[in-house]
Amino acid sequence: MPPRDYSQLIQKLQDEYRAYAPRSGAIQAQAAKVLVDGGSHTLRLIEPFPPRIRHASGAYVEDEDGHRILDFWQGHYANILGHNPPAVTGALAAAFTDGQGLQTGFVETHQAELAELICRQTGAERVRFTTSGTLSTMYAILLARAFTGREMVLKVGGGWHGAHLWGLKGVGMREHGFKQVDSVGVPDALADDVIVTAFNDTQRLEEDFKKNQGCVACFIVEPVIGAGGMIPASREYLETARRLCDQHGVVLIFDEVISGFRYRAGDVGLLYGVRPDLLTLGKIIGGGMPVAAVGGRAEIMALTGRSKGAKVKFSGGTFSGHPAGMLAAKTLIHYLIANEDQIYPQLNALGKLLRKRVMETFKQAGVLARFAGGESEVIAVNSLNQLVFPYEDTGLLTMPGQVLNPEVVDVTLGEKVLKLAMLLEDVHIVHGLGALSTAHTEADIERLCGAYQRAMARIGLI
Ligand code: PMP
Repeated sequence: MPPRDYSQLIQKLQDEYRAYAPRSGAIQAQAAKVLVDGGSHTLRLIEPFPPRIRHASGAYVEDEDGHRILDFWQGHYANILGHNPPAVTGALAAAFTDGQGLQTGFVETHQAELAELICRQTGAERVRFTTSGTLSTMYAILLARAFTGREMVLKVGGGWHGAHLWGLKGVGMREHGFKQVDSVGVPDALADDVIVTAFNDTQRLEEDFKKNQGCVACFIVEPVIGAGGMIPASREYLETARRLCDQHGVVLIFDEVISGFRYRAGDVGLLYGVRPDLLTLGKIIGGGMPVAAVGGRAEIMALTGRSKGAKVKFSGGTFSGHPAGMLAAKTLIHYLIANEDQIYPQLNALGKLLRKRVMETFKQAGVLARFAGGESEVIAVNSLNQLVFPYEDTGLLTMPGQVLNPEVVDVTLGEKVLKLAMLLEDVHIVHGLGALSTAHTEADIERLCGAYQRAMARIGLI
């Protein structure tokens, strides 16, 4: 199916948005003089300009034009309790008035306590902190390469592990699928060492392990793939990954930057009954602060420690283990553990209702919409949602190669047209929808559905 031409409609929506949010527009005009495209992180830089946020609380943010926007982005899926949860901000406020928080350059008690919590909740034997998910996956790969003495990195197409050199291949979909390098500047030799396999395709995984026998250092995979569509892996896929890694002496890395503490107060690998050799965490664990971690088997983690001659240089980071970050993370994780029995069932119930109501809304409008991934045997309900618009109803979309493929789904409708039309309804969606937090309510779901309806009318779908 050829993509529809939305250029005129996008122009009209952009004009409406310019009139709707003049202050954000004026700030953008100034910002673009000094910031590339007016800001950092391209996903935030909605065209013609993003709403400039001056306040955020729970499920809502408020922009400089005074719009109260229902937010399903929630800090890149990090804010499981919503924006600025008092459970965390209270602890930070107290610390900042008590001579703690910004005294980097030492170690304090929060870090050890946080590490203990993470080890207990994820099965990691040792952990080390850094400041971004990108760095955590880069260090995990470095550790795996040092441990195995091998060069190659196996990853899945559509998997985003951050913008380090091993991560910049096989992310975005192009004409020939996923194998391309995603950025100019990546050394060819390094890109050649990254092999791109297919998510949820067990047979292809077997083949890729066999083809590259003796050369692969690690297989890095998200148990629930994020950028590739919020699709849970099948149990069979992760069990096969574990078996193949054991058989071929490959380090299995679960990138749980998104999934960690999203489905339980710990790793999601446990729900699959599959333990990786290394896992990476970020997003939720920081309680809103830039905290990330690598954890896993002590003998692999030891390669960065003194006892093994600090072979892997996972050692720097001015702000690694930042006290305010450690405090926020520790406070949040204590909270998630203490309230686990309430938080995750609440997210599940809300997730179930959200999917039901959204499906009803689109069905009623006669618009074909689907949640990528559907339900899996392990993640029965997902509080992370990518909503896509397939050209034909061909059943479940369980692979990034379907969800991100402009020949299968109407990518421009979900990513640009509907997004802007929803912003005009004061609802912020990303990849068709986004994340639920405990701050969202049933009334917010109704508000979302009402907004979808009006947005569809505005763009002429109904
Ligand atoms: N891994 C995964 C699965 C991610 O989703 C992301 C970020 N979206 C990263 C790694 C990189 O994390 P960060 O943005 O904190 O560098």
